[in-house]
Amino acid sequence: LAQPLTRPLKVFAFDPSLGRRHGNHMTVAVPYEPLRPGPRGRSIEVIDYDATNDCYYKPVDLDDHEILLQGGLSPSEADPRFHQQMVYAVASRTIQNFSFALGRPIEWTRRRRGRTRARPRPLRIFPHALQEANAYYDPDLHALLFGYFAATAADVGHNLPGQRIYSSLSHDIIAHETSHALVHDIRTFFMEPTSPDTLAFHEAFADIVALFQHFTFQEAVLEHIMRTGGALHRDELAPLAGYASRREAAGARPSTLAEEAQRNVLVSLAQQFGEAMGLRAALRSALGSPPDPAELEKRTEPHDRGAILVAAVFDAFFSVYAQRMADLFRIAGAGSGGGGQLDVDLAKRLSVEATKSARHFLNMCIRALDYCPPVDISFGDFLRALITADYDLVPDDDRGYRDIIIECFRRRGVRPTEAASYSESALRWQPPETRNGRGLVCRGLDFDVIWGTTPDVLRANARILSEFGARHAGAFGLKRPANGARGIQAWTFHPVHRVGPDGQLRFQFVVELLQQEEVSFGPRGNGGPRHTYRGGATLILNAEDGSVRYAVFKRLASRRRLERQRGFWDQWRATLLETYREPEMGRITADFARIHRGY
Ligand SMILES: [Zn+2]
Repeated sequence: LAQPLTRPLKVFAFDPSLGRRHGNHMTVAVPYEPLRPGPRGRSIEVIDYDATNDCYYKPVDLDDHEILLQGGLSPSEADPRFHQQMVYAVASRTIQNFSFALGRPIEWTRRRRGRTRARPRPLRIFPHALQEANAYYDPDLHALLFGYFAATAADVGHNLPGQRIYSSLSHDIIAHETSHALVHDIRTFFMEPTSPDTLAFHEAFADIVALFQHFTFQEAVLEHIMRTGGALHRDELAPLAGYASRREAAGARPSTLAEEAQRNVLVSLAQQFGEAMGLRAALRSALGSPPDPAELEKRTEPHDRGAILVAAVFDAFFSVYAQRMADLFRIAGAGSGGGGQLDVDLAKRLSVEATKSARHFLNMCIRALDYCPPVDISFGDFLRALITADYDLVPDDDRGYRDIIIECFRRRGVRPTEAASYSESALRWQPPETRNGRGLVCRGLDFDVIWGTTPDVLRANARILSEFGARHAGAFGLKRPANGARGIQAWTFHPVHRVGPDGQLRFQFVVELLQQEEVSFGPRGNGGPRHTYRGGATLILNAEDGSVRYAVFKRLASRRRLERQRGFWDQWRATLLETYREPEMGRITADFARIHRGY
């Protein structure tokens, strides 16, 4: 019997507070897989244990005939089985978006104490884990934990006082938490705070995915555009005009991209999406606000700082959308020159284009993760990764998207790490430099993209990659290890396939090589607690011949880098310890339970 490709499931596009308004009741198509009650599938297991009440709620059986025929249970706050369906559907959709953009399945093959598990370990989701206003990703449990609580009288909004609020019924919270788990799977060490940017990046990325995923819900977007579109007229194209004028007249008073974008209907839409994430004032106010490069210096709390990165990405998205819509507005121009109702066909086109641009940006941001260094991520690294990842897939940027992104990041004060200028060619990562100028080729790797790879072959690949790293340590920014290849660990390596706009398929390998040392982080490098200090390189290889396209590294041997991390440690240690826990000596990781409390 042929299996269907997708399974339709009903969800809230936002959360229950909006009722049926704004296209809130919607159906998403998630990849089909046979499911046991839970739902429990290959990469997700929903376990509905309520710790506070010490009980299990009856698990939903989405393969039940009746439920299948209805396209899943209808949205209901009172039925725990709908909560289970909702977390499954949104998490599944988020995983699918990552898998599509990265060009490989998400296997959750997480390393535990240096070993790779042979089988994928499903991400566990607890929709009623705790009775508090919180939701978080727990890397040790490899689980998402969602809380529920009674709305307080002071902050009820659309909710009745005393009514229960379930974080497991908020699209954005589920997408946000799932993204934390995915980023952690792709770049394990981004959870170690090594600068003010690391944890802020984790938060920003999770918000970026949640927001863009929202923009891919065409019905919700259409309804918003219809409601607010009456005010749309040519002025809404200002962001791009502002951009162009800056380029023409450098030195002129900079007209701020986002200030003008504020009249763009998508900005208010994004702000409303931000609102769905509870009390996230920083995010709401950053979206569409005039950029101030000095802000980045002032904000250190991960969400506040992350909001600046989210805003930079969305400035670019709004500008690209305006550019894509320019001709449509010119054509419709005369007709929609004042208040009045927006033409239905125009609104539809706008929503289609907004959705398309959102998908493009979402893919671009996720794909950039593969081009990030393995440790110590900064916003500037992410900018360079974005530009390189996009260039790698779409060398001709005839619409100038990359220019727009660079400009928007610059205006938010994001400085590219170790790049000579903000030009695209300076921002792109480079192939490794060799003494003879010839490229480096890694031979002997064995990946079976279609049938998967056995543990023996995986071990052989890991050995080849460690030796390759040791042999060319200099070119990859690695410290030449005293103990040979054993000093370099091939932490992850994946075959990926990406489809370019020309429809051409490209096969690549993405590899993380890691190194670490125990160093003292006490004052002047003496005494005090010892910490694991890491460096390493991400390599992107052409699959056909094993040649290295890019090496993106953080030097273990760099004294400047070590001093910077020490400085960060000295300055922020006390503050950090309020937010983070120290699970074991010498290692600090994010504790999302604490970071998310109150957000
Ligand atoms: Zn978060």
